[in-house]
Amino acid sequence: MALTKTQLEAFEKQLMDWKSELEIGQSVNVQAMHEQEQTSFPDPTDQASMETDRNFELRIKDRERKLIKKINQALERIKAGEFGECDSCGGDISVKRLQARPVTTQCIECKTAQEQEERTRLD
Ligand SMILES: [Zn+2]
Repeated sequence: MALTKTQLEAFEKQLMDWKSELEIGQSVNVQAMHEQEQTSFPDPTDQASMETDRNFELRIKDRERKLIKKINQALERIKAGEFGECDSCGGDISVKRLQARPVTTQCIECKTAQEQEERTRLD
């Protein structure tokens, strides 16, 4: 484990703050959608654009939900003392990479290798 206790605590705080931000967003969106549902749109064009907006919003919310799950997993890893370890090779993930993307579970080498493999499969 290459991370110090202080660094881990900073990551934990960062993740918690991020999570509460996302959770606030989720509940606000739910309320906004609920209010929209109660408004009637007699114009079919409005109706259509409202549907598109809602699909867009649902996609964002879906992504946020997945992100919250990843944040929870990262917090679990901090508790288990596994945070910063690469899932694939067991090596250390660089602090710089963790700071940019604290929910990551792979070091840059494994991530790059995985992406290359995915690209090869698509070709
Ligand atoms: Zn790795």
